Amino acid sequence: MYPWNHQRRYNAYTEYLKALFGQRVQKVTINAGFTCPNRDGLISVGGCSYCDNAAFNPSYCHPDKSITQQIEEGIEFHQNRYRRANKYLAYFQAYSNTYADLKNLKRIYNQALENDKIIGIVIGTRPDCVDEEKLSYFARLAESKYVIIEYGIESCNNNTLQAINRGHDFETSVKALEMTRKMGIHTGAHFIFGLPGETKEEWLSWTKIISGLPLHTIKFHQLQIIKNTVMAIQFKSHPETFHSFELHEYVDFVIAFAERLNPHFIIERFAGEVPPRYLYINNWDLIRNDQLLCMIEKQMENQNTWQGKYYIQ
Ligand code: SF4
Repeated sequence: MYPWNHQRRYNAYTEYLKALFGQRVQKVTINAGFTCPNRDGLISVGGCSYCDNAAFNPSYCHPDKSITQQIEEGIEFHQNRYRRANKYLAYFQAYSNTYADLKNLKRIYNQALENDKIIGIVIGTRPDCVDEEKLSYFARLAESKYVIIEYGIESCNNNTLQAINRGHDFETSVKALEMTRKMGIHTGAHFIFGLPGETKEEWLSWTKIISGLPLHTIKFHQLQIIKNTVMAIQFKSHPETFHSFELHEYVDFVIAFAERLNPHFIIERFAGEVPPRYLYINNWDLIRNDQLLCMIEKQMENQNTWQGKYYIQ
């Protein structure tokens, strides 16, 4: 039934990591003090209209602390919480983590890999913040460590990307993914469901485009409107341009999306989880990601469906 060797109805990230490393692996989030060309003026100063990095950055991450200290504190935090994990991936999440010169990138990532509990790095960035020289460096690291570059793609629709002030188009994302994959580096992508002007039908139609991308992992987030962002102001004045998902509707939708998705992709996330105090509107009360995942898996079971069931190559 499934192209993967386990009982879950989708290609789950936790199983993927266990199969890859033979043990439980956790991510330790690092804030290395990068900025973003969409904020520092190179492309724009306003940033993406939905962006507030503080909303998804754990409190123990602060660029005032060295990478070494953040890793040690992150490991200690996780060891208290998930006692079974003994190996970690350093997850560079905040802002654009390839937006620096090569010398600085080497200083930062080599430092992260000095800790012998760190078996790889996860690098979140924009698709316009990589080039051949940087990717060659990451490709060399990838010969002995796990390296994945996760690109914020967000939408396949260039009108949307322009409207949310992303500062790059979809073709830039495709080019970055192709270059990265060609260099032998793992690739990930992040998409948002709910950006203004888009519809459920449009997102479902993307499954064909996305399934053809050179991707290992994929993350989906429902749009979460964060207080004090441009998007919160837009939502206040034009709520009718947003498709705000009800919880059960979102469960049905992501299942339909997964059914059409390439069955070889590893789904890392079905939804985002911003602390409620940051949210301008909160449709889903206090539901946690693991509760949502249970709902999705139970519903898949009830529908006797799975990732890729309706995938057409
Ligand atoms: S690229 Fe990322 S960090 Fe930069 S403004 Fe957009 S969401 Fe924020």
